[in-house]
Amino acid sequence: ATPLSVMVGTGKGAQAGILIRSAEALETAHKLDTVVLDKTGTITAGAPVLTDVHPADGIEEDTLLRLVSGAEETSEHPLAGAILAGARDRGLAPPAVGDFDSITGKGVRATVDGHALLVGTARLLDDAGVDTAPLTPVAAELSVQGKTPVLAAIDGRPAGVLAVADTLKEDSAAAVADLQRLGLTVVMITGDSTRTAQAIAARIGVDRVLAEVLPEHKANEIRRLQDEGRTVAMVGDGINDAPALAAADVGMAIGTGTDVAIEAADITLISGSLSGVVTAIRLSRATMRNIR
Ligand code: ADP
Ligand code: MG
Repeated sequence: ATPLSVMVGTGKGAQAGILIRSAEALETAHKLDTVVLDKTGTITAGAPVLTDVHPADGIEEDTLLRLVSGAEETSEHPLAGAILAGARDRGLAPPAVGDFDSITGKGVRATVDGHALLVGTARLLDDAGVDTAPLTPVAAELSVQGKTPVLAAIDGRPAGVLAVADTLKEDSAAAVADLQRLGLTVVMITGDSTRTAQAIAARIGVDRVLAEVLPEHKANEIRRLQDEGRTVAMVGDGINDAPALAAADVGMAIGTGTDVAIEAADITLISGSLSGVVTAIRLSRATMRNIR
Protein backbone atom coordinates (compact mmCIF):
# COMPACT_ATOMS: atom_id res chain seq x y z
CA ALA A 1 0.00 0.00 0.00
CA THR A 2 1.39 3.40 -0.86
CA PRO A 3 1.55 5.73 2.12
CA LEU A 4 0.14 8.53 -0.04
CA SER A 5 -3.13 6.79 -0.96
CA VAL A 6 -3.60 5.72 2.64
CA MET A 7 -3.07 9.32 3.72
CA VAL A 8 -5.62 10.51 1.17
CA GLY A 9 -8.09 7.85 2.32
CA THR A 10 -7.60 8.75 5.97
CA GLY A 11 -8.05 12.43 5.15
CA LYS A 12 -11.28 11.80 3.24
CA GLY A 13 -12.50 9.74 6.19
CA ALA A 14 -11.81 12.57 8.62
CA GLN A 15 -13.79 14.95 6.40
CA ALA A 16 -16.71 12.53 6.56
CA GLY A 17 -16.46 12.21 10.36
CA ILE A 18 -14.69 8.84 10.26
CA LEU A 19 -11.51 8.73 12.31
CA ILE A 20 -9.23 5.90 11.18
CA ARG A 21 -6.51 5.03 13.67
CA SER A 22 -4.10 3.18 11.39
CA ALA A 23 -3.24 2.33 7.81
CA GLU A 24 -3.87 -1.30 8.73
CA ALA A 25 -7.47 -0.58 9.78
CA LEU A 26 -8.17 1.15 6.46
CA GLU A 27 -6.63 -1.80 4.57
CA THR A 28 -8.43 -4.51 6.55
CA ALA A 29 -11.83 -2.83 6.15
CA HIS A 30 -11.92 -3.69 2.42
CA LYS A 31 -11.75 -7.42 3.25
CA LEU A 32 -14.70 -7.37 5.64
CA ASP A 33 -17.55 -9.75 4.86
CA THR A 34 -19.45 -9.55 8.18
CA VAL A 35 -20.56 -6.63 10.31
CA VAL A 36 -21.74 -7.20 13.88
CA LEU A 37 -23.85 -4.38 15.32
CA ASP A 38 -24.51 -3.94 19.03
CA LYS A 39 -28.19 -3.20 19.63
CA THR A 40 -28.43 -0.71 22.47
CA GLY A 41 -26.90 2.65 21.64
CA THR A 42 -25.69 1.50 18.21
CA ILE A 43 -28.79 0.38 16.30
CA THR A 44 -31.07 2.14 18.77
CA ALA A 45 -30.74 5.66 20.10
CA GLY A 46 -29.78 4.34 23.54
CA ALA A 47 -32.24 6.62 25.33
CA PRO A 48 -34.88 4.14 26.55
CA VAL A 49 -38.22 5.20 27.99
CA LEU A 50 -40.47 3.41 30.51
CA THR A 51 -43.60 2.35 28.59
CA ASP A 52 -45.47 -0.18 30.77
CA VAL A 53 -46.00 -1.17 34.40
CA HIS A 54 -47.88 -4.44 34.94
CA PRO A 55 -48.12 -5.43 38.61
CA ALA A 56 -48.89 -9.04 39.59
CA ASP A 57 -52.21 -9.72 41.38
CA GLY A 58 -52.50 -8.00 44.74
CA ILE A 59 -49.83 -5.36 44.10
CA GLU A 60 -50.48 -1.68 43.37
CA GLU A 61 -48.91 -0.24 40.21
CA ASP A 62 -47.34 2.70 42.10
CA THR A 63 -46.00 0.45 44.87
CA LEU A 64 -44.28 -1.75 42.29
CA LEU A 65 -42.79 1.18 40.36
CA ARG A 66 -41.66 2.92 43.55
CA LEU A 67 -39.84 -0.14 44.93
CA VAL A 68 -38.31 -1.00 41.56
CA SER A 69 -37.08 2.57 41.07
CA GLY A 70 -35.46 2.35 44.51
CA ALA A 71 -33.63 -0.81 43.45
CA GLU A 72 -32.45 0.88 40.24
CA GLU A 73 -31.40 4.14 41.85
CA THR A 74 -27.67 3.47 41.96
CA SER A 75 -27.50 1.37 38.78
CA GLU A 76 -25.71 2.96 35.83
CA HIS A 77 -27.56 0.91 33.22
CA PRO A 78 -29.62 2.92 30.67
CA LEU A 79 -32.67 0.84 31.66
CA ALA A 80 -32.32 2.09 35.23
CA GLY A 81 -32.33 5.69 34.02
CA ALA A 82 -35.55 5.04 32.08
CA ILE A 83 -37.25 3.49 35.10
CA LEU A 84 -36.19 6.33 37.43
CA ALA A 85 -37.40 8.97 34.96
CA GLY A 86 -40.69 7.09 34.56
CA ALA A 87 -41.21 7.01 38.33
CA ARG A 88 -40.35 10.71 38.62
CA ASP A 89 -42.88 11.56 35.87
CA ARG A 90 -45.56 9.87 37.98
CA GLY A 91 -44.53 11.85 41.05
CA LEU A 92 -42.95 8.86 42.78
CA ALA A 93 -39.75 9.42 44.74
CA PRO A 94 -37.54 6.33 45.04
CA PRO A 95 -37.15 5.10 48.63
CA ALA A 96 -33.69 4.80 50.18
CA VAL A 97 -31.77 1.63 49.25
CA GLY A 98 -30.06 -0.69 51.67
CA ASP A 99 -27.52 -3.08 50.18
CA PHE A 100 -27.27 -3.09 46.41
CA ASP A 101 -25.74 -5.49 43.90
CA SER A 102 -25.46 -5.07 40.17
CA ILE A 103 -25.45 -8.35 38.22
CA THR A 104 -23.87 -7.56 34.87
CA GLY A 105 -26.05 -8.37 31.88
CA LYS A 106 -28.92 -9.48 34.12
CA GLY A 107 -30.11 -6.76 36.48
CA VAL A 108 -29.97 -5.64 40.09
CA ARG A 109 -30.57 -6.98 43.58
CA ALA A 110 -31.32 -4.54 46.42
CA THR A 111 -33.04 -4.06 49.75
CA VAL A 112 -35.66 -1.32 49.46
CA ASP A 113 -37.96 -0.23 52.30
CA GLY A 114 -37.08 -3.47 54.08
CA HIS A 115 -38.05 -5.60 51.05
CA ALA A 116 -35.73 -7.81 49.00
CA LEU A 117 -35.99 -6.65 45.38
CA LEU A 118 -34.78 -8.49 42.29
CA VAL A 119 -35.14 -6.57 39.02
CA GLY A 120 -34.01 -7.69 35.59
CA THR A 121 -34.17 -10.62 33.19
CA ALA A 122 -36.22 -13.79 33.60
CA ARG A 123 -32.91 -15.59 34.00
CA LEU A 124 -32.00 -13.43 36.99
CA LEU A 125 -35.25 -14.31 38.76
CA ASP A 126 -35.10 -17.99 37.73
CA ASP A 127 -31.55 -18.29 39.06
CA ALA A 128 -32.78 -17.00 42.42
CA GLY A 129 -35.56 -19.61 42.51
CA VAL A 130 -38.42 -17.17 41.88
CA ASP A 131 -41.43 -18.66 40.07
CA THR A 132 -41.55 -16.53 36.90
CA ALA A 133 -44.44 -18.47 35.29
CA PRO A 134 -47.07 -15.83 36.23
CA LEU A 135 -44.95 -13.11 34.58
CA THR A 136 -44.02 -14.96 31.40
CA PRO A 137 -47.11 -14.22 29.23
CA VAL A 138 -46.91 -10.46 29.87
CA ALA A 139 -43.15 -10.42 29.30
CA ALA A 140 -43.59 -12.33 26.03
CA GLU A 141 -46.27 -9.93 24.79
CA LEU A 142 -44.04 -6.90 25.55
CA SER A 143 -41.05 -8.51 23.81
CA VAL A 144 -43.01 -9.12 20.63
CA GLN A 145 -43.59 -5.35 20.56
CA GLY A 146 -39.80 -4.88 20.56
CA LYS A 147 -39.81 -3.62 24.15
CA THR A 148 -37.43 -4.89 26.84
CA PRO A 149 -39.38 -6.55 29.67
CA VAL A 150 -37.97 -5.90 33.15
CA LEU A 151 -39.18 -8.52 35.61
CA ALA A 152 -39.45 -7.82 39.33
CA ALA A 153 -39.63 -10.01 42.40
CA ILE A 154 -40.39 -8.74 45.90
CA ASP A 155 -39.31 -10.95 48.81
CA GLY A 156 -38.87 -13.93 46.50
CA ARG A 157 -42.33 -13.67 44.92
CA PRO A 158 -43.10 -12.57 41.34
CA ALA A 159 -44.28 -8.94 41.59
CA GLY A 160 -44.72 -7.68 38.05
CA VAL A 161 -43.25 -6.70 34.72
CA LEU A 162 -42.19 -3.26 33.53
CA ALA A 163 -41.22 -2.48 29.96
CA VAL A 164 -38.69 -0.12 28.55
CA ALA A 165 -38.46 0.77 24.87
CA ASP A 166 -35.75 2.41 22.85
CA THR A 167 -36.28 4.08 19.45
CA LEU A 168 -34.31 3.00 16.40
CA LYS A 169 -31.82 5.53 15.05
CA GLU A 170 -33.30 7.13 11.98
CA ASP A 171 -30.94 5.58 9.43
CA SER A 172 -30.30 2.14 11.00
CA ALA A 173 -32.50 0.24 8.54
CA ALA A 174 -31.08 2.08 5.52
CA ALA A 175 -27.51 1.42 6.66
CA VAL A 176 -28.23 -2.31 7.08
CA ALA A 177 -29.65 -2.44 3.54
CA ASP A 178 -26.59 -0.59 2.18
CA LEU A 179 -24.21 -3.01 3.91
CA GLN A 180 -26.10 -5.96 2.45
CA ARG A 181 -25.91 -4.35 -0.99
CA LEU A 182 -22.13 -4.17 -0.52
CA GLY A 183 -22.26 -7.95 0.00
CA LEU A 184 -21.83 -8.01 3.76
CA THR A 185 -23.65 -10.25 6.24
CA VAL A 186 -25.16 -8.12 9.00
CA VAL A 187 -25.44 -9.56 12.52
CA MET A 188 -27.08 -7.94 15.56
CA ILE A 189 -25.65 -8.75 19.03
CA THR A 190 -27.36 -7.97 22.33
CA GLY A 191 -27.80 -9.00 25.93
CA ASP A 192 -31.51 -8.46 25.50
CA SER A 193 -34.01 -11.35 25.25
CA THR A 194 -34.31 -13.34 22.01
CA ARG A 195 -37.90 -12.23 21.40
CA THR A 196 -37.14 -8.52 21.85
CA ALA A 197 -34.03 -8.86 19.70
CA GLN A 198 -35.96 -10.60 16.93
CA ALA A 199 -38.70 -7.96 16.93
CA ILE A 200 -36.07 -5.23 16.44
CA ALA A 201 -34.07 -7.31 13.95
CA ALA A 202 -37.17 -7.74 11.80
CA ARG A 203 -37.64 -3.96 11.67
CA ILE A 204 -34.14 -3.26 10.38
CA GLY A 205 -33.66 -6.44 8.33
CA VAL A 206 -30.44 -7.94 9.74
CA ASP A 207 -29.37 -11.41 8.54
CA ARG A 208 -28.60 -12.95 11.91
CA VAL A 209 -29.36 -12.29 15.59
CA LEU A 210 -27.19 -13.16 18.58
CA ALA A 211 -29.34 -12.51 21.68
CA GLU A 212 -28.99 -13.10 25.43
CA VAL A 213 -25.24 -12.73 25.07
CA LEU A 214 -23.64 -11.81 28.39
CA PRO A 215 -21.22 -8.85 28.16
CA GLU A 216 -18.17 -11.04 28.78
CA HIS A 217 -19.22 -13.37 25.93
CA LYS A 218 -19.51 -10.78 23.17
CA ALA A 219 -15.82 -11.16 22.23
CA ASN A 220 -16.25 -14.96 22.04
CA GLU A 221 -19.10 -14.54 19.57
CA ILE A 222 -16.81 -12.42 17.38
CA ARG A 223 -14.12 -15.14 17.52
CA ARG A 224 -16.70 -17.77 16.66
CA LEU A 225 -17.65 -15.84 13.49
CA GLN A 226 -13.93 -15.53 12.65
CA ASP A 227 -13.64 -19.32 13.10
CA GLU A 228 -16.28 -19.64 10.35
CA GLY A 229 -13.67 -17.96 8.10
CA ARG A 230 -15.28 -14.54 8.25
CA THR A 231 -13.52 -11.18 8.41
CA VAL A 232 -15.51 -9.34 11.02
CA ALA A 233 -16.20 -5.73 11.98
CA MET A 234 -17.78 -5.02 15.35
CA VAL A 235 -19.67 -1.77 15.87
CA GLY A 236 -20.48 -0.75 19.45
CA ASP A 237 -20.65 2.05 21.96
CA GLY A 238 -20.60 0.67 25.48
CA ILE A 239 -17.95 -0.23 28.05
CA ASN A 240 -19.20 -3.81 27.63
CA ASP A 241 -18.39 -3.73 23.93
CA ALA A 242 -14.66 -2.95 24.33
CA PRO A 243 -13.39 -6.57 24.36
CA ALA A 244 -15.48 -7.39 21.26
CA LEU A 245 -14.21 -4.26 19.49
CA ALA A 246 -10.65 -5.38 20.25
CA ALA A 247 -11.33 -8.98 19.12
CA ALA A 248 -12.83 -7.94 15.77
CA ASP A 249 -10.70 -7.55 12.63
CA VAL A 250 -11.93 -3.97 12.59
CA GLY A 251 -13.52 -2.41 15.70
CA MET A 252 -15.72 0.62 15.08
CA ALA A 253 -16.87 2.80 17.97
CA ILE A 254 -19.84 5.12 17.87
CA GLY A 255 -18.51 8.63 18.60
CA THR A 256 -21.27 9.33 21.10
CA GLY A 257 -20.28 6.19 23.04
CA THR A 258 -18.01 5.63 26.00
CA ASP A 259 -14.30 6.54 26.02
CA VAL A 260 -13.50 2.89 26.76
CA ALA A 261 -15.15 1.79 23.51
CA ILE A 262 -13.45 4.54 21.51
CA GLU A 263 -10.04 3.54 22.90
CA ALA A 264 -10.60 -0.12 21.97
CA ALA A 265 -11.68 0.71 18.41
CA ASP A 266 -9.71 1.04 15.14
CA ILE A 267 -12.24 3.45 13.67
CA THR A 268 -14.47 6.03 15.36
CA LEU A 269 -17.70 7.16 13.71
CA ILE A 270 -18.13 10.72 14.96
CA SER A 271 -21.73 11.19 13.83
CA GLY A 272 -22.98 8.24 15.83
CA SER A 273 -24.98 7.08 12.85
CA LEU A 274 -24.63 3.66 11.21
CA SER A 275 -24.27 5.19 7.75
CA GLY A 276 -20.69 5.86 8.90
CA VAL A 277 -20.02 2.11 8.75
CA VAL A 278 -21.09 2.08 5.10
CA THR A 279 -18.95 5.13 4.29
CA ALA A 280 -15.90 3.62 6.03
CA ILE A 281 -16.13 0.37 4.06
CA ARG A 282 -16.71 2.18 0.75
CA LEU A 283 -13.72 4.41 1.47
CA SER A 284 -11.50 1.43 2.26
CA ARG A 285 -12.52 -0.32 -0.94
CA ALA A 286 -11.88 2.81 -3.03
CA THR A 287 -8.49 3.34 -1.38
CA MET A 288 -7.38 -0.24 -1.97
CA ARG A 289 -8.53 -0.03 -5.63
CA ASN A 290 -6.27 2.99 -6.13
CA ILE A 291 -3.35 1.21 -4.56
CA ARG A 292 -3.51 -1.83 -6.81
P1 ADP B 1 -27.22 -4.70 25.90
O1 ADP B 1 -26.48 -5.79 25.18
O2 ADP B 1 -28.55 -4.46 25.25
O3 ADP B 1 -26.40 -3.44 26.04
P2 ADP B 1 -26.79 -5.62 28.70
O4 ADP B 1 -25.81 -6.70 28.44
O5 ADP B 1 -26.28 -4.40 29.39
O6 ADP B 1 -27.63 -5.24 27.38
O7 ADP B 1 -27.97 -6.22 29.60
C1 ADP B 1 -28.69 -7.36 29.17
C2 ADP B 1 -30.06 -7.39 29.78
O8 ADP B 1 -29.96 -7.48 31.22
C3 ADP B 1 -30.89 -6.15 29.52
O9 ADP B 1 -31.55 -6.20 28.29
C4 ADP B 1 -31.86 -6.21 30.71
O10 ADP B 1 -32.91 -7.09 30.40
C5 ADP B 1 -31.03 -6.79 31.84
N1 ADP B 1 -30.49 -5.74 32.71
C6 ADP B 1 -29.19 -5.33 32.81
N2 ADP B 1 -29.04 -4.35 33.71
C7 ADP B 1 -30.28 -4.09 34.22
C8 ADP B 1 -30.82 -3.18 35.19
N3 ADP B 1 -30.06 -2.32 35.86
N4 ADP B 1 -32.15 -3.24 35.44
C9 ADP B 1 -32.94 -4.10 34.79
N5 ADP B 1 -32.51 -4.97 33.87
C10 ADP B 1 -31.20 -4.99 33.57
MG1 MG C 1 -24.83 -1.77 24.68
